[in-house]
Amino acid sequence: SQTIKPLVAGNWKMNGLRSHLDVASEIAAGISSELAGKVDAMICAPATLIQLLAQSTSATALRIGGEDCHSAESGAHTGDISAEMLADAGATAVIVGHSERRTDHGETDALVKAKAEAAWRAGLVAIICVGETESERKAGRAVEVVSGQLAGSIPDGATAQNTILAYEPVWAIGTGLTPTSGDVEEIHWEMREALIARLGAQGADMRLLYGGSVKPGNAQELMGVKNVDGALVGGASLKATDFLGILAAYA
Ligand code: PEP
Repeated sequence: SQTIKPLVAGNWKMNGLRSHLDVASEIAAGISSELAGKVDAMICAPATLIQLLAQSTSATALRIGGEDCHSAESGAHTGDISAEMLADAGATAVIVGHSERRTDHGETDALVKAKAEAAWRAGLVAIICVGETESERKAGRAVEVVSGQLAGSIPDGATAQNTILAYEPVWAIGTGLTPTSGDVEEIHWEMREALIARLGAQGADMRLLYGGSVKPGNAQELMGVKNVDGALVGGASLKATDFLGILAAYA
């Protein structure tokens, strides 16, 4: 397998007005060409900001992504946004299956899979999220739950180029809690084995992100775990100094 170039992707969630564009500019300005050679950086933003962000960062190393998409290309789906629309606005990737979508909107593995295929259809990279809840972990079911989500959410045809997998334990998102390095290593090893078994070399080279309360203070340790190829960052992506502090784990 090749050496995997890590990715640190921010997820702004339902945060950010046009006044927040400066944060992305500040992040982009803080990525030296040397750092850009070692790690990729992306901000996944609300749909209303994507075109503006893509324009204001077009000459920089920062890439822009969406946070969700509909599975269809167009049609009678009021309020929804297609992957083609995100690509048209300047996104290069889209998060699908975030736990907040799975919880707030009842998204199933099958739907997440259809959304990932929609992302590819539009030329976007699909960032597919999986992760167990607190009660599932307490019941000793973390590996089983993540394996099931992985099997059900990743479409056939996934490659190291068109898909990124993010392990985000639900209980670690926005809570300040993180799993131990050993727990992250265990899950990422299981994901890697499952991906290799299913996709061969493409699974060996696929980027596996960790997400859940990543901060500048814990980034180095978490990013140093075997089979962790970067981070998906919520809260700490809203402040340029925090996001740059996480990227610095790869400096
Ligand atoms: C997320 O929601 O993708 C996330 C990782 O959030 P936070 O970093 O705030 O825990």
